[in-house]
Amino acid sequence: MKQIIIIGAGYGGLRAAEHLCKNKNFHITLIDKNPYHYMQTEVYGYIAGRFDMSDIAIDLESFTKGLGTNITFIQSEVTHIETSKKVILTSGESLCYDYAILAVGAKTNFFSFIEGLKEHTHGVKDIQRAFAFRQAFEKRLSDKLQNKKFKRSGDLHIAIAGAGLSGVEIAAEMAYTLKRYEKILAQCSHNLKISLIDAAPTVLPGMHAYLIQKSTKRLKKLGIAIYTNAFISQITQRQITFKDQTKMDFDFIIFTAGIKAANLIATMDTPKNKIGQIIPNSMLMVENYENLFAIGDCTQITDQQSNILPPTAQIAEKSALYVAKSIEKSEQDQPLKPFETKIDGVFIALGGKYALGMLYNKIKVEGYLAYILKKLITRFYRFGLELKVNAGYNKR
Ligand SMILES: Cc1cc2nc3c(=O)[nH]c(=O)nc-3n(C[C@H](O)[C@H](O)[C@H](O)COP(=O)(O)OP(=O)(O)OC[C@H]3O[C@@H](n4cnc5c(N)ncnc54)[C@H](O)[C@@H]3O)c2cc1C
Repeated sequence: MKQIIIIGAGYGGLRAAEHLCKNKNFHITLIDKNPYHYMQTEVYGYIAGRFDMSDIAIDLESFTKGLGTNITFIQSEVTHIETSKKVILTSGESLCYDYAILAVGAKTNFFSFIEGLKEHTHGVKDIQRAFAFRQAFEKRLSDKLQNKKFKRSGDLHIAIAGAGLSGVEIAAEMAYTLKRYEKILAQCSHNLKISLIDAAPTVLPGMHAYLIQKSTKRLKKLGIAIYTNAFISQITQRQITFKDQTKMDFDFIIFTAGIKAANLIATMDTPKNKIGQIIPNSMLMVENYENLFAIGDCTQITDQQSNILPPTAQIAEKSALYVAKSIEKSEQDQPLKPFETKIDGVFIALGGKYALGMLYNKIKVEGYLAYILKKLITRFYRFGLELKVNAGYNKR
């Protein structure tokens, strides 16, 4: 039986596991440092208090048990991969493989050139940070509510640094929540403010003009103050200083302006780009390592015109399926074709039951219909995982 190790149980790792475990000639070991799969794409709703923990986390032990008997889950952190030896070291053991898939994703890039960034901001790339942010948000709302009885003591100002997909979704959902508070809690909710800040000239830099224009309009309608071309040079506990020396006070701040590859990649001797992502060959194989493939956010993935694609769950899953099929082909001595991909569509949640979508760079969807379509995609993804979790839970 061939031993396949998948490192990382994110969107890419799970898709690869689901496909490969159908082949009974393979034994799959899925390794993750956490006991759960984190649905990052839903974190905007969790932070704003609309979803709870069970909407964003899936138990990996039950999930793998539900997948079959030829897959094992190990909760451990992979610390090293031996070059050309097909050996993986975790914090507790060393494991040999015939094929391995690197799917360790990315983490928030707390740029060192912004003084105080890591110390004073929240990221959302892991559950603990999202949880801390949600708690801070709820605490401030609760404090604000208390001001009804006592003397009101000033504004609540949330700053979101980074107006890419995640920053925009979080800002919109929080603003929507605050709007609800405004109606229900009346005057004690006055002066709640959200600012969305980016160094680029627009929100959603690099996306289609339609998405940029419509999102900007919606964000403004939700009362969000947008600051573009705004370069942050320093952050202290309660204040941002911009490059032009202007200052902005805030109550708390979230940072979503950049990612870099997960820590493990930094230990590897293979070509990488400036955010530390692996540059694999056209078959997504990692140079200097035998039978090791790289997928998802830890990898630089390009389209047919050699444009670097933004890191998304969609591309993580597509690359995972391609690699899983490549492993099957290798076992049958079939030649591998280069990985070719493109983004099929983008959906952006913009607060409440409003979303925007763009399919195949042509078809535009807006409002409630886009919200329903986005929800369906997430529900479909989650439903597939839950079926396995339920089956696995009953086997415990
Ligand atoms: C707020 C937000 C909103 C988003 N919205 C969308 C969206 O609407 N659509 C979309 O397509 N994408 C969206 N994304 C991007 C999407 O979440 C990522 O592209 C996707 O998670 C990448 O999948 P992955 O499998 O490469 O990595 P991940 O999902 O990050 O998984 C990596 C896994 O590897 C594990 N790991 C890391 N290092 C180790 C180690 N050394 N040993 C063991 N395990 C390790 C981690 O614990 C993690 O479980 C969003 C992201 C954020 C933050």
